[in-house]
Amino acid sequence: MIYTLPKLQYAYDALDPYIDAKTMEIHHSKHHQAYVDNLNKAIAELDIEDTTLEYLFKQASALPPVIRNNGGGHYNHSLFWNLITPGGNTNPVGNLASAINETFGSFANFTEQFTAASMGRFGSGWVWLYLNEEGRLAIGTTPNQDNPLMLHTTIKGRPILALDVWEHAYYITYQNRRADYVSQFWNIINWDVAEELYNAAKQ
Ligand code: MN
Repeated sequence: MIYTLPKLQYAYDALDPYIDAKTMEIHHSKHHQAYVDNLNKAIAELDIEDTTLEYLFKQASALPPVIRNNGGGHYNHSLFWNLITPGGNTNPVGNLASAINETFGSFANFTEQFTAASMGRFGSGWVWLYLNEEGRLAIGTTPNQDNPLMLHTTIKGRPILALDVWEHAYYITYQNRRADYVSQFWNIINWDVAEELYNAAKQ
């Protein structure tokens, strides 16, 4: 097996009440595990030497959709688990905090635009804060398990912050109320990780 399910750095119930334990358990041990299993199976059936996600994302249009969907699923969820944490910082830190203020005017403006983007994503997908190809911060969304690293998707750049807006991420606690789920996201963000991603993307 090339890819494995990453261990969470916190317990399934650690993010309660923002994300309940049952949601975390199913999301990690069932949904994410399935992306990992299906990715490994799909790679085994391909005759390719380079099986890194970076390579696969750049070839996604030439590979079966199963690679794009499950490779994206594995990458996006691995990132998401690291970007959330019990007792997250309330506000961005460091260089990213400055860049958010510079780009969006204020953190409040940023959260407003990020929330609007999440509500504008029809169906399943992800909301991103990313460093675009011009080296500027931007907010955008992708359908399904696409991400900004993929060659053929709607936005391109390096992910800084990721929010899963598939219903499986919030349905047990929030049912259809995606806006309520997004409003709680700000309580559990690990801005230290986002700052590391930002600094790495800037290099
Ligand atoms: Mn998910």
